[in-house]
Amino acid sequence: MKNAKLKIIKKKDLISFLGTLKKKYNVLVPTQKNGDVRFSEFNSGEDILWDYRNTKISPKEIFFPQTEMLYEFSGQEIMENEIPSRNYLIFGIRPCDAQAFSLLDKLFGGDDFRDPCYLRRREQATIISLACRRPQITCFCTSVKGKPDNEEGSDIILFDLDESILVKPVTEKGEKFAESFSKWSKEAKEADIEKKNKLMDLSLKKVRSQVNVQNIKEKLDKSFDADFWNELHQKCLGCGICTYLCPTCHCFDMTDEVRNARGKRLRCWDSCMFPLFTLHASGHNPRPSYKERMRQRIMHKFNYCPENFKEIFCVGCGRCIRDCPVNLDIREILKTAVGS
Ligand code: SF4
Ligand code: SF4
Repeated sequence: MKNAKLKIIKKKDLISFLGTLKKKYNVLVPTQKNGDVRFSEFNSGEDILWDYRNTKISPKEIFFPQTEMLYEFSGQEIMENEIPSRNYLIFGIRPCDAQAFSLLDKLFGGDDFRDPCYLRRREQATIISLACRRPQITCFCTSVKGKPDNEEGSDIILFDLDESILVKPVTEKGEKFAESFSKWSKEAKEADIEKKNKLMDLSLKKVRSQVNVQNIKEKLDKSFDADFWNELHQKCLGCGICTYLCPTCHCFDMTDEVRNARGKRLRCWDSCMFPLFTLHASGHNPRPSYKERMRQRIMHKFNYCPENFKEIFCVGCGRCIRDCPVNLDIREILKTAVGS
């Protein structure tokens, strides 16, 4: 929204306002849990982490849970799993993860295929992102259409100015939502906007990693049989953590749990890095080794998704780099595959 008015609100007032929303919304905020940062239900202002780097597990699990029951069955009868009507307020997510939602929206909410489970939750959600002040050395969002104050996928973007928060509505939904706390907020002053701009300039400078993705689809079109794939995968253990933590990876498996002619159909996250992912019932596996599986992960994000959705399915969050147990680095893989 080009002419949206910027507002300023004291941090403590914003926290009090969040407290009033708990009846109407499932308010999810970044919190510390068992040593990791992840989104959980808002209980008190002390729970909220403002200066966190990013969550370990991406917030995709809110709309696309790791395991979910699609329906139960008994003989021929099918009982749909009704997803409860619940407004989600996702507060304080990083802009790269909000951008990832806009990519998943294209996948799960496209013209050819619409995923009712994802869409039901997504349509009931308001996304309030928090601009980054501490990008990590593994972040490369600026190479893949992002930046520390990227607005894509957010209804509102917030800027942490220490005691106060600058509020910028991005969508009409965000504008309407911002009106609901107008009695606590004021119009932002020039000095607030200047402070925000300075902080964002600093943040932008801290994103030092760059990856060249120019013409990446075309370059990869010619590289399916290239020799470098024989090298790139060699350290990979096939643990799949890179895909589980990724905010844009979306592959899943369906399994039935059956007992005495009653059962449940479940969908669970899957990973192209697992050998069973493409194993056929015949025993044939078209991706028999780590080489084909690593190639698939890169091709899917940087070649097939640009072909199908006109988008690279990577937002440069760096999770797959930070948590790979053998330090495989997607930036290095891309450098080898497409040049620097
Ligand atoms: S996290 Fe690393 S070791 Fe595990 S599957 Fe991914 S690239 Fe391979
Ligand atoms: S591929 Fe890696 S850097 Fe890119 S979005 Fe997924 S986890 Fe983040």
